[in-house]
Amino acid sequence: MAEVRFQQVSKTYPPRRGSAPVEVLRQLDLSIADGEFLVLVGPSGCGKSTLLRLLAGLESPSSGEVFVGDRCVTGLRPAERDVAMVFQSYALYPHLSVADNIGFGLRRQRSRTPLQQLGDGLHRATRRLPRALRFPSAREERIEQRIRAVADTLELGALLDRLPKELSGGQKQWVALGRAIARQPAVFLMDEPLSNLDAKLRTGTRAQIVELQRRLGTTTVYVTHDQVEAMTMGHRIAVLNRGRLQQLGTPIELYQWPSNLFVAQFIGSPPMNLLPVLSVGGGQLQLGSKRFLPEGPTADALLQWQSGGGGEQLSGGLRAEHLKLAPATNRNLPAEVSHREALGNEQLLTCRLLEGDHLVQLRATPEQAVAVGQTVHLEVDPAGWRLFDGAGEALPRPAEPLGPSAPEPVLPELPAS
Ligand code: ADP
Ligand code: MG
Repeated sequence: MAEVRFQQVSKTYPPRRGSAPVEVLRQLDLSIADGEFLVLVGPSGCGKSTLLRLLAGLESPSSGEVFVGDRCVTGLRPAERDVAMVFQSYALYPHLSVADNIGFGLRRQRSRTPLQQLGDGLHRATRRLPRALRFPSAREERIEQRIRAVADTLELGALLDRLPKELSGGQKQWVALGRAIARQPAVFLMDEPLSNLDAKLRTGTRAQIVELQRRLGTTTVYVTHDQVEAMTMGHRIAVLNRGRLQQLGTPIELYQWPSNLFVAQFIGSPPMNLLPVLSVGGGQLQLGSKRFLPEGPTADALLQWQSGGGGEQLSGGLRAEHLKLAPATNRNLPAEVSHREALGNEQLLTCRLLEGDHLVQLRATPEQAVAVGQTVHLEVDPAGWRLFDGAGEALPRPAEPLGPSAPEPVLPELPAS
């Protein structure tokens, strides 16, 4: 087990056929704690796989260093790094049984003399013969034990003699995971391992991977573009966009206090509603003809912004749960229902504010009778406001520790699956 550290890592792919070089990562700093499940999330093409491949040793950085534990692994070959990777495409050997796929990394781990190789080969060739005719190899016996232990852990015992083509997609991914676990690496790397599975299987497998990681306690970097996976699986989430780390924090921190507009829109479903508001002094915001007085940490941030002479134009963010259907009053925002999605346990309403023509989304209980085209009134939770400046950065909260020295992560217990 080990912590993982990227230090000022940049990666630029060289130009190909006259095209410009591709700058994928820029001076990225990221520390992952020992035993942590870190989810790396971001839109397609933002550099997630590149980051993972740099850690696995499948690519080398243009500059910067990568550490696993206290070892700098930047110059080491993949096999020397003590990491194991699971790919989206499973990457199983089609001609090998499940057992041999799981044991593949173990059999390659150390170089052997030709005589040892012959002994191991004889062991495998004779292993189904009566005991007296078997050729014993201690190394092969250890490997077989390890394969059985992994198969027990993942409940793959019944599949050990099958070929990959005789497995379902979910089973194949489970075997690929088994191959990674068998080597007992210091770090697991998983690159969108669930994206080839159907939705129902994905939900179940997600919970199993979380449970397994908690049981083994192995540091894990898990890449996904799916924000639901990001929210539900990791101790912390790192959001990547355009080769830069946008925010690193627990799922709830990112959901509640996104550090910029990108994170606000990327994390959470539906995305945070954004409204152009004016900062009008006295800790107030104005939207059209209505004034709002935010509460909680945002109130302090706004007062500090106003006393510091910050700009007037802000983006005001509100999560769907911070708007609710309410009676018509001076305060509440009149809006027209433009779309309604009944989800059984709740409704997701899309409404157009009558003043300013902005669209917002909110949740309502299934009993609340509303029809498309109807005029409704929306009440804003004063503690729900999140404010972003003209550059899209969240207004700093006064209580926030300032400066770049982030505290050591305290890993919360993962929820029981
Ligand atoms: P993600 O996994 O987040 O979708 P990648 O890390 O695969 O993103 O790719 C990031 C960017 O780098 C993309 O624009 C991709 O086209 C480019 N890229 C990836 N691999 C190579 C390569 N070997 N050569 C050149 N460009 C590459
Ligand atoms: Mg990728």
